[in-house]
Amino acid sequence: MGKQPTNKNKGNIVGLFLMVLAAVITIIIAFPVTDGVRKYIKDNTKYIAGTYSAADKGFGGNVRATVVVGDNGIENISFEGKSETPDIGGAAIEKLNDKMKANLDTEFDSVSGATITSSGLKHALKKALLKAQGKEVKGERKPQSADIVVIGAGGAGMSAAIEAAQKGATNVVILEKMPITGGNSVRATGGLNASETQYQKRDGIEDSNELFYQDTMKGGKNLNDPELVRTLVENSASAVDWVNSIGGDLSVVGQFGGASVKRIHRPSDTSAVGPMLVKTLNAKLDELGVPVLLETKATKIFADKDGKITGVEAEDDNGVFVINTKVVVLATGGFGANPQMVAKYAPQLEGFITTNHVGATGDGIEMATELGAGLTDIEQIQTHPTVNPDTATMYTEGVRGNGAILVNDDGKRFVNELDTRDVVSAAIMAQQNGESWLVFDTAVRESLSAIEKYINEGIIVEANSIEELAQKTGVNEANFVATMQEYAAMQAVGKDSEFGRKSMEVPLTKPPYFAGKAKPAVHHTMGGVKINKETQVLKEDGSVIPGFFAAGEVVGGVHGANRLGGNAVTDIVVFGRIAGDSANKYVLDNGGNTERTITAQTEDANFVAKDIKTKLKDGSYKGSAKGFGGDIEVTFTVKKGIVNDLEISGPKETTEIGGKAINKIKKGMQKSGKFEVDNVSGASVTSKGITDAINNAKLQ
Ligand SMILES: Cc1cc2nc3c(=O)[nH]c(=O)nc-3n(C[C@H](O)[C@H](O)[C@H](O)COP(=O)(O)OP(=O)(O)OC[C@H]3O[C@@H](n4cnc5c(N)ncnc54)[C@H](O)[C@@H]3O)c2cc1C
Repeated sequence: MGKQPTNKNKGNIVGLFLMVLAAVITIIIAFPVTDGVRKYIKDNTKYIAGTYSAADKGFGGNVRATVVVGDNGIENISFEGKSETPDIGGAAIEKLNDKMKANLDTEFDSVSGATITSSGLKHALKKALLKAQGKEVKGERKPQSADIVVIGAGGAGMSAAIEAAQKGATNVVILEKMPITGGNSVRATGGLNASETQYQKRDGIEDSNELFYQDTMKGGKNLNDPELVRTLVENSASAVDWVNSIGGDLSVVGQFGGASVKRIHRPSDTSAVGPMLVKTLNAKLDELGVPVLLETKATKIFADKDGKITGVEAEDDNGVFVINTKVVVLATGGFGANPQMVAKYAPQLEGFITTNHVGATGDGIEMATELGAGLTDIEQIQTHPTVNPDTATMYTEGVRGNGAILVNDDGKRFVNELDTRDVVSAAIMAQQNGESWLVFDTAVRESLSAIEKYINEGIIVEANSIEELAQKTGVNEANFVATMQEYAAMQAVGKDSEFGRKSMEVPLTKPPYFAGKAKPAVHHTMGGVKINKETQVLKEDGSVIPGFFAAGEVVGGVHGANRLGGNAVTDIVVFGRIAGDSANKYVLDNGGNTERTITAQTEDANFVAKDIKTKLKDGSYKGSAKGFGGDIEVTFTVKKGIVNDLEISGPKETTEIGGKAINKIKKGMQKSGKFEVDNVSGASVTSKGITDAINNAKLQ
């Protein structure tokens, strides 16, 4: 017989039982398991409900951990690392995310082969957990706050910020990832389409919002969102007036492809529309005191559990920081410079060159879809028909609009040059090598100052006769001469009996003659985030994401399957302004305006660079070269292999582009200590001018 338990033993057994029970209950409470999946973590740590995210260094860039705390404690932990090598760090992140879904835990083992990524994730998770407990994270910058955060300082973002400030918003900030403002907007050459404007009336042009609507729908193959197109055309005339009211110049009206009448509005000096617009918007932002944080990339937008916007995470030279805000205006532009995204949505365009600035990488689309935003027409990508294949310089449609024609290597025309971009692009792709020649004469050159830029770039062949032009370009001479004669004859009677071109401005008979190689390139991404006419971002099911607005090329639906030349500038001003107005109203309805606390660092125009190493002999150096607006001059002295007084001046460079690029280049050299010019994207002509001027100085 076994021993009967004594009272003491009984007590021990009961105690042991209670301890085991307590442990089991603790485990069950802390790590509840449902159907083999641990749903949430609730232990003694006090977490505050909300979503907390933190980043740390991974292998390719920053990796991030996000912790969601709900009523039940920690409800979700997830990891991201967009810059990690897909097969290694990326795969590890996927594995850990799967692991968390199956077995939610605040700790995890490193994934073998991806230890750097794993270590970054561990640090990021630690920080996110500290934040979830309301604790300060060492080394992490204090969150800032703003009423409205505009992401992207292109035409749409800047118009939105100005409109909001004009309507009374007091705490607006713009984040711009590039060193200069302007994005693709500064590249816009042609102009802004608008109907029923005072300038059309002045010139006796009969146009209507209805005709503009019909042209836009036809151009977009009726894929466009009719409500957005109505909004576009009905606000187009006031967009022209608004740009002019803040110091812009859109007073000349011209003809462009796809428009039934003259509708494109341009600066009176025939200069490109983009630089004028960006300069005007920059000046207005300055006047209104709206801070633009340059080289500050938005990386994530946060929303609470009800989907309302709560903040933006951004990255600058000093690391990652958060701006708490209830309102975000997404104005990050398109994804024409993201070849992977282009190939994903339009595989037929894989390997195409692009006209876009390097920052057009679709960040906004990624950030918006993370919040559940719907996308529309995302596979609709437009090619621009006439781009130089060697330099990716786009010849504006104005060149054709003002009279230029296209010929193939056989010396023959092959399309109505003023047809829509998709038609002209397809026609060029069908020629030998998928290339063509853009041919014009001195009359066309004199009508458009943009042409000087192409000539200065050295991408235009010039000849005193048609025969000489044929020899220099290698096109079939006899055919080319015949083509030019036939064209002049058709122009004289005002009828293109070959291809039905409506507007033939000049006979192309004024020497010298010019030709530039041209082929299609990725130009505009028509698809993007779904919005309504108030620019509220919509989910796939049509519901609104509160506090989230979007405008410009990041949005889909305005242009359908094909954007008409001149309609994007209308789009960014019209919908940018609406976004600013909507954002301001949202702020007023949700707590009202607060005082601005964020300030932008201002550029020191007189910055002199020092501590730059060189192998040049001691002495004073001076050199100059052609920039964008005029000559750029460089001066410096070398003492014992060091430059301490590098000055670069380009008084005719645009302040907001070339001027900022000059400062950026000087600062870059001082930072690296190397006498090498880092090309500033968006200011390549100024950058090249500086390089040439330095090289000229070194030659002396
Ligand atoms: C060469 C060229 C010529 C053109 N000519 C014309 C024309 O004549 N007429 C016309 O109607 N349209 C034209 N277009 C199209 C038109 O310029 C663009 O569609 C339009 O300007 C886009 O404006 P946006 O403000 O939406 O984007 P953008 O002007 O591209 O601005 C977006 C900004 O957001 C920034 N950004 C992106 N991601 C982030 C991030 N994560 N954080 C912070 N900032 C970010 C970018 O750096 C950029 O500065 C042209 C386009 C090109 C490329």
